[in-house]
Amino acid sequence: MTGTVLAVVFAPLVAFTIYEDFKQALGGSLGEQATVLVTGAGGFIGHHLTRYLVDKGYFVRGVDVKFPEYEQSPASEFRVLDLRRWQNCLEATRDMDHVYHLAANMGGIGFIEANKAEIVHDNTLIDTHMLEAARVARTTRFLYTSSACIYPGYMQDTPDVAPLREGDAYPADAEDGYGWEKLATERLCRHYREDHDLKTYAVRFHNIFGPLGTYDGGREKSPAAICRKVALAGDGDEIEVWGDGEQTRSYCYVSDCVEGIYRLMQSDHHDPINLGQDRMVTINELVDMVATVAGKTIKKRHDLTKPQGVRGRNADISVMRAVLGWEPEITLEDGLTRTYAWIKQQLEQRAHRLVGGLHAAD
Ligand code: NAD
Repeated sequence: MTGTVLAVVFAPLVAFTIYEDFKQALGGSLGEQATVLVTGAGGFIGHHLTRYLVDKGYFVRGVDVKFPEYEQSPASEFRVLDLRRWQNCLEATRDMDHVYHLAANMGGIGFIEANKAEIVHDNTLIDTHMLEAARVARTTRFLYTSSACIYPGYMQDTPDVAPLREGDAYPADAEDGYGWEKLATERLCRHYREDHDLKTYAVRFHNIFGPLGTYDGGREKSPAAICRKVALAGDGDEIEVWGDGEQTRSYCYVSDCVEGIYRLMQSDHHDPINLGQDRMVTINELVDMVATVAGKTIKKRHDLTKPQGVRGRNADISVMRAVLGWEPEITLEDGLTRTYAWIKQQLEQRAHRLVGGLHAAD
């Protein structure tokens, strides 16, 4: 009990001291360098972004309901806070200049189709409270992470679809649940920009993948799930593929995603913008690519009862190229090679721990 009271009293003091030490370490130059908040810093993209910003010399406050799963956060300061709660959003944004808002209750297609009420409830609370708290705290920039799931279903009903342009979002027919909430929050960002002195940004991610992302448990996305299944399969084995595998997607490696987010935050482009790659592949092709990386022959068993999302999706990234003067650089093959190596290593380490635990129990 005494410990809890002491923690509550001294935690803000410790955080302030770290911040002051950090300022001194930079020779007091932090006055010119913005302080940044990354929400969702315990998650996949937020963790990578935190490292990127720390490496650039920013004072980064990471906030999440959990610590990163696979390695320690490099954040200057990390706070475990539930951002559905208003008071926690106030605490998170206090003294911050810029907000990169990535926290969200989300997962792969299986998860978002089966948990719509929870997702819309949680993300509505998180997003509305975070925007208002950013205004109250007088932060100057707020980047919101939207999704390709805001695009209309009627434009994505064949595998061979035209790349989605930003203007295609309306007339709206977003992914039920998760996508509608993202679309509504994009608009809320615009209202805050127009009605208050807050520069908002909205970036629509198209299937970001890479190491340090969830690869099992039900929230994983297709590249991670396929890498896990192939890593666990023997040469010549069969793996389960959701749907007939002819659904199409484009994929973007996480270091490119982080670079794009940062470049956008330095820009004056405030309308929603796509961030991703425009190379479309089928899920069957993705499986074949991972099998090649693994050096295995893999057969596919298609399960047509499993959710597969829209039939086809690709990103038009011409606005991104024009606005940011840049485009993603890591090829799908290269990104899959790095991701597969990391997931395989994770699975091997887990197997060793399991065997170690069994021996300890002998
Ligand atoms: P992630 O699930 O790894 O990260 C989200 C983080 O938010 C998690 O660490 C989670 O604990 C945290 N969070 C959830 N509820 C919270 C709460 N109540 N309070 C505080 N933190 C909470 O997902 P990600 O892939 O890193 O995605 C980051 C953002 O990008 C999300 O907003 C997501 O919707 C968006 N996005 C991601 C992709 C993608 O391909 N990964 C695609 C489109 C959009």
